[in-house]
Amino acid sequence: MKRILADRTSQIDASGIRKVFALAASLKDPINFSIGQPDFDVPEELKDEAIKAIKAGQNKYSQTSGDGMLRERLAEQVKNEFGWQNPAILVTSGVSGALLLAFMALVNPGDEVIIPDPYFVIYKHIINMLGGKCVFVDSYPDFKLPVEKISEAITGKTKLIILNSPCNPTGVVYSEDRIKALAKVAAEKDIIVMTDEIYERFCYDSNCPSIANYYRKSLLLRGFGKAYAMTGWRLGYMAADKSLKNVIEEMTKIQQYTFVCAPTPFQKAAIAALKFDVSDFINAYRKKRDLIYEGLADKFELIKPGGAFYAFVKAPAGGTATEFVEKAIANNVLIIPGNVFSEKDTHFRISYTTSDDKLQQGIDILRRLA
Ligand code: PMP
Repeated sequence: MKRILADRTSQIDASGIRKVFALAASLKDPINFSIGQPDFDVPEELKDEAIKAIKAGQNKYSQTSGDGMLRERLAEQVKNEFGWQNPAILVTSGVSGALLLAFMALVNPGDEVIIPDPYFVIYKHIINMLGGKCVFVDSYPDFKLPVEKISEAITGKTKLIILNSPCNPTGVVYSEDRIKALAKVAAEKDIIVMTDEIYERFCYDSNCPSIANYYRKSLLLRGFGKAYAMTGWRLGYMAADKSLKNVIEEMTKIQQYTFVCAPTPFQKAAIAALKFDVSDFINAYRKKRDLIYEGLADKFELIKPGGAFYAFVKAPAGGTATEFVEKAIANNVLIIPGNVFSEKDTHFRISYTTSDDKLQQGIDILRRLA
């Protein structure tokens, strides 16, 4: 029989998160700790900006690299924060869009990409599809940045190191000391670091340090979806110091032939979003973080998350995380098994972006199952 599908399709599996998301649709009023997005809505002011742009006829393609004004504002922000003069900026269809373009621009078959484990799912699947090799570096049990292990994992084929802080799925924020140490290792070996900072606003205990402050060869990924609850608007960006301008140029070229541009009216609204104060949302999520941590820490092994909106909890002894997740789902609590984000199946991820009431109900059920 003629093969219809390309070989690369055999290298990816349907997202484990989406599977639980689909299951949620069949449950009656579940406690949904599964999906990684805020439970508040886009602020009215920003919705109005998008509507205004649509009504004003800003519905055509933007420049491939993004709306001129938005890029200017982003460049200014990046320059103020990291001291990069004339940084290169590419506005993308979500951070996922930026990740795909970046990996396409950088990863040759056989190239190695170092990724702390646990990790955000997309990295692994895109790299595999491109024929690259993921080199996972274990960060259990405290999920701190494993600098020494990363250093030991570097070979002549290492192309990139990926950092994600605050981290999905652990909620852990990497310390300044470890980030500086990693910057030193990367500089010594002359390796690019891709830093996924989509959760940079969700930072609860102190500031969230960025490697971009210590290392010029950083590719900075940030987005709008999480901080302003506009995940469906598909907006992200990549920024780089001018020494890595060629990476952004090649990504822009690939964007021309793939996404073409990020959605134009939402780019206009993003300009207003940059000035929008999200501290009320962040304060509310800090309280939810406390609720989940204090509600579970005496019954489960759990590192206190410092950012994002996830907790990564060790499943009770005597079974895999997947088995525990099945039990939780049978009790109406949707959580994601850790093996979706890891080479191990020992933990489960809670996304605590739900009402305090639901959070408490979920905590009570999980405690009963512990
Ligand atoms: N990086 C991380 C760490 C994420 O958690 C997500 C979304 N879950 C993304 C990137 C992709 O974000 P976007 O919706 O902007 O494509």
